[in-house]
Amino acid sequence: MQNDLFSKSKPQSKPGTLGETKVAYRQASTILNKSTGFMDGYDYTLNPYSGCFFGCTYCYAAFFARDKEKMDNWGYWVEVKENALTLLRKKRKSSIEGKTIYMSSVTDPYQPIEKKLELTRGILEILLHHQPHLVIQTRSPLVTRDIDLLKKFNFVQVNMTVTTDSEEVRKVFEPQCPKNSVRLKAIKEVNDSGIQSVITMTPLLPVLDVEKFLDQLLNTGVKHFITQPFHADRGKFVAGTREGAMQLIDKYDWTREKYLKVEQYLKKKLPDMGVGKDGFTPLF
Ligand code: SF4
Repeated sequence: MQNDLFSKSKPQSKPGTLGETKVAYRQASTILNKSTGFMDGYDYTLNPYSGCFFGCTYCYAAFFARDKEKMDNWGYWVEVKENALTLLRKKRKSSIEGKTIYMSSVTDPYQPIEKKLELTRGILEILLHHQPHLVIQTRSPLVTRDIDLLKKFNFVQVNMTVTTDSEEVRKVFEPQCPKNSVRLKAIKEVNDSGIQSVITMTPLLPVLDVEKFLDQLLNTGVKHFITQPFHADRGKFVAGTREGAMQLIDKYDWTREKYLKVEQYLKKKLPDMGVGKDGFTPLF
């Protein structure tokens, strides 16, 4: 009998915590969800986890948390859909082949617990037989672990989120996320392996040196980019983070005008840059 939770490559134990983040395991009722709203250009969204270790201060996904406690503690809980592989194995090939799937819309499929569980990897192993048009959204270098599988898809795209050139800014808005340099290196590796790669600057946070940022982006070899503005009134801003974030917005005078200036500069200099929802249309 096949293991319910893990990929075939590496059965593991089920840790209950990861650092300060609680990890729970639950049976999901579905694993492929019809896309709506911002992602309605896709057929399905696929989220192997609920919650997210990365806990970005501005994350809109926190609003989809089941209760206020979960919303307030965004970044400190993760739920693993432990029957994800079973649910996916039950799907007929005809219901997935050629369909566009966005993984993931309300979590990061390569957040740290994935290193132990390999749930996302297990999902890829199954999807490989069904050949959807797959877009992976992450800010984790762990995605490079699965390059071997990704290369076997006929249509796959990896979106790497990079929101600023500044570690000071990154640490305030995304304290639990990998460093910018690590993400840039990871997407370079993905791109170099021949996989369609995109850098998503969504949202674009204060940029301190736009020319240096441009160099960093171009040095990855990636040809496609997406940007959208940061909205201070959206997202969860988990306890204690709003003040620090707002101070940085003021310090760097990150106004709508300043954002637009950076956006226009990057648009001129980068090979291809989409803006907002339209930018997320898959490139297949
Ligand atoms: S990585 Fe994505 S899903 Fe996770 S907290 Fe950040 S924005 Fe939200």
